Amino acid sequence: MEELTHYINGARVSGKSGRFADVFNPATGDVQAKVPLASADELADAVAAAQAAQPAWAATNPQRRARVMMKFVHLLNVNMDKLAEALSREHGKTLPDAAGDVQRGLEVVEYCIGAPELLKGDYTDSAGPGIDMYSMKQPLGVTAGITPFNFPAMIPMWMCAPAIVCGNAFILKPSERDPSVPLMLAELLEEAGLPKGIMQVVNGDKEAVDAILDNDVIQSIGFVGSTPIAEYIYGRGCTNGKRVQCFGGAKNHMIIMPDADMDQAADALVGAGYGAAGERCMAISVAVPVGEATADKLVEKLVPRIEKLKVGPYTAGNDVDYGPVVTAAAKQNILGLVERGVAQGAELVVDGRDFNLQGYEDGFFVGPHLFDRVTTDMDIYKKEIFGPVLSCVRAQSYEEAIGMAMDHEYGNGTAIFTRDGDTARDFANRINIGMVGVNVPIPVPLAYHTFGGWKKSVFGDLNQHGPDAFKFYTRTKTVTARWPSGIKEGGEFSIPVME
Ligand code: NAD
Repeated sequence: MEELTHYINGARVSGKSGRFADVFNPATGDVQAKVPLASADELADAVAAAQAAQPAWAATNPQRRARVMMKFVHLLNVNMDKLAEALSREHGKTLPDAAGDVQRGLEVVEYCIGAPELLKGDYTDSAGPGIDMYSMKQPLGVTAGITPFNFPAMIPMWMCAPAIVCGNAFILKPSERDPSVPLMLAELLEEAGLPKGIMQVVNGDKEAVDAILDNDVIQSIGFVGSTPIAEYIYGRGCTNGKRVQCFGGAKNHMIIMPDADMDQAADALVGAGYGAAGERCMAISVAVPVGEATADKLVEKLVPRIEKLKVGPYTAGNDVDYGPVVTAAAKQNILGLVERGVAQGAELVVDGRDFNLQGYEDGFFVGPHLFDRVTTDMDIYKKEIFGPVLSCVRAQSYEEAIGMAMDHEYGNGTAIFTRDGDTARDFANRINIGMVGVNVPIPVPLAYHTFGGWKKSVFGDLNQHGPDAFKFYTRTKTVTARWPSGIKEGGEFSIPVME
């Protein structure tokens, strides 16, 4: 069986802790590799290499750093099929979806090619007599990121590209469920010309994460994953004096107004609810039709579409709508919540509980489920299911629908389907959720905007990618310089005021 490694100081390095986790092929249920789980000592090796390499990288001019990103983009495109295949094999998502995962990361790398412009400082000539003032954006030093299983290419790239192009060293602790693509990314970055020690991958679990949180050299931590872990990392990281941004779980509502095109809304819901087996932080998991007639029509349109969904292994190529979920434990958790929904009185209109795929009986496949008449006190409404389960909560008015989305503890994404501009505008203005779609079910902002939720979906001040990433990965230093012609005789004892 393949034994995976870490990537430390420019080389694949075997694990030394003696602890490993199984990496599954979710389509077959087979263990296909084991990944080493790093000890604090192994993390310290990576930190030492990063600390040694970072000053020279920070002193490399931004244009040269950007050229590494340019070459990296080229290599990502050249290796797209290989990356997508490795990603699908460990994650389970379809090949086109895996290529999309790489692509949405690549677009942030493209944005980072603009670093020379984005890192330009401010300058005030003659701020006072003979006095000039300038602000610089300097790198933090050694930075780290901890990423989830569901986007093993995109999210590591959202972190490593801006961190590195700003002149930092970056240590990635990817998900132990699908670590192969992150290792490949580190190798491609070096092939693109990145010096050793600037991008490293330390595989592991809580032990490695805690070592990152408590390491004095590491200046900042980016985290994406579930809310309880986000909260933990934010708290401990901040207490230890680090700059921390954590992105957590979600429960995204889509509101369907009576004037919406019901076919479009149903198509959008099926893609956004069941794509990637619902394992997306921007998946729609709650449909909120406004009015009984809208709800009846919507459910009538949804059922045949959901029953037609093709569930299968990524090896079936384009002929599959979604694949297995990531682990047997994830499957059990989803089916457990489905049972809770039934027990608490929701109407299971499409029942995927007996789903079985011939030839893949041991795979982690979950059939599609649709619940109708879900109420806000049910577990399937309150909890993030992270599986192919859509809940329909009927609202009697627009105010009830928007109120429901606003009262939910999560605030990552939301959407409204309507033909009425006033309603859409009101919704976009009032909703307390970070990313809003108007007739767009999964409103993931592009690389040059920023990505982030509100409420319990985020801990920290700045969003991911776009201009916020350049703020997160740099510190501002402001220099006030006076030259001899501006120096007056004697000391000054009151706060200086520029004349
Ligand atoms: P997870 O929280 O289980 O794991 C995320 C990372 O934290 C992994 O690297 C894991 O090794 C580490 N980790 C797990 N338990 C830990 C512990 N006790 N102490 C320290 N570290 C620990 O999340 P996941 O299952 O990999 O990913 C799915 C979750 O991520 C969902 O909740 C989803 O909504 C969320 N997510 C959010 C966004 C966003 O941008 N808001 C994006 C993608 C995924």
